[in-house]
Amino acid sequence: MSLIVMKFGGSSVADAECMFRVAQRITDCYKAGNEVVVVLSAQGDTTDELIEKAREINPNGSKREMDMLLSCGEQMSVALCAMAIQKLGFPVVSLNAWQVNLRTDSRYGNAHITKTSAKRIREELDRQRIVLVTGFQGISREEDITTLGRGGSDTSAVALAVALKADLCQIYTDVDGVYTADPRLVPNAKKLQEITYDDMLELASLGAKVLHNRSVQMAKRYHIDLEVLSSFKNVPGTIVKEVAKMEKVVISGVAMDQSIARIALVGLNNEPGVAYQIFAKLAKKNIDVDVILQSIGRGDSKDISITVTREACDEAVRVLEENREELGFEYLNVRKDVAKVSIVGGGMLNTPGIAASMFQALYEEHINIHMISTSEIKITVLIDEDKADRAVRAIHNKFFD
Ligand code: ADP
Ligand code: ASP
Ligand code: MG
Repeated sequence: MSLIVMKFGGSSVADAECMFRVAQRITDCYKAGNEVVVVLSAQGDTTDELIEKAREINPNGSKREMDMLLSCGEQMSVALCAMAIQKLGFPVVSLNAWQVNLRTDSRYGNAHITKTSAKRIREELDRQRIVLVTGFQGISREEDITTLGRGGSDTSAVALAVALKADLCQIYTDVDGVYTADPRLVPNAKKLQEITYDDMLELASLGAKVLHNRSVQMAKRYHIDLEVLSSFKNVPGTIVKEVAKMEKVVISGVAMDQSIARIALVGLNNEPGVAYQIFAKLAKKNIDVDVILQSIGRGDSKDISITVTREACDEAVRVLEENREELGFEYLNVRKDVAKVSIVGGGMLNTPGIAASMFQALYEEHINIHMISTSEIKITVLIDEDKADRAVRAIHNKFFD
């Protein structure tokens, strides 16, 4: 007997037909003699619809009330799925974050899990029940409902797999595995049988939303094997694990992120302490800076460009403008119509020419690069958003065709 945590995303439980398909999957796993814990996301576009409802009432409603609202979607899903499983004649119980004591910090909208208890779930499993748990939500120290950030149900599933010492954590979604690029954007993308935690973490952090990046981080830390597979088709998926197959893979995939903005601070004083001042002001407001580029100074002045999330852009601009005199820039140049395109692969470390191939692909498409950032296992470029789809296809073809 194995203990399996299965997670189904929004499109997998979108309507009654999907719900019964999922219920069938779950009960098949239970009938095979396994203990089954299931984490569900909100149905279809429910979370987006709830966000829209909030906007209609008050676009500036507090983050606390947003979390109170958004957590409803997952609670609907588990109750409905429990009813579908009851209809199929199996014992089942649905539970929310309170009932499984899933604790988080107090960052509404982006809460991080601090602990969860296996007690209630264990008791229900011992009663031979299938246990359904809400994804995405937690409880803060102040006993408030929090949410884990968009796509966070994957992280709920891994957290429960850790707490329950599960044998496997399966992430069921609307594609049948992790591909070398988003298969909706690149039709000839290839499915990976296996991928390392490190490569998957980079891909997820750089925009491949097939897994929430923190779920990969947690799976790596606690050695949980993750499997990404389709809830619609019965075919093998992709295994995310410490060491992927022996054969050397240089590039694991291409990712794109359209949720960013670039802010250039033009005409800064060319003297020590300027970068420190800027980043200290932003950090004080909890604004994360991603890519950073500093130009060579021209006499007394220099420019620094940064990227932040599009969501944080207005606040970042406000903070910088408020401190304009102290920071001493001439003006800000802000662009929200940019995108980040990245290649990821643990194998690029010892393989020369990877950056050249990526830049050649962009050159052949006449796509201009605004910023470049690299690490040992990734290369990221910032380009115009309207060229991003084309860039992803061109780069993918360069490495995988
Ligand atoms: P769920 O609702 O099941 O959590 P998501 O929409 O969050 O599903 O994630 C699945 C989507 O991720 C796919 O539909 C696909 O378009 C997208 N995606 C992006 N990059 C990749 C990739 N490299 N491999 C597979 N899917 C990807
Ligand atoms: N329902 C949440 C979202 O849409 C969480 C998730 O699906 O993982 O972001
Ligand atoms: Mg998701």
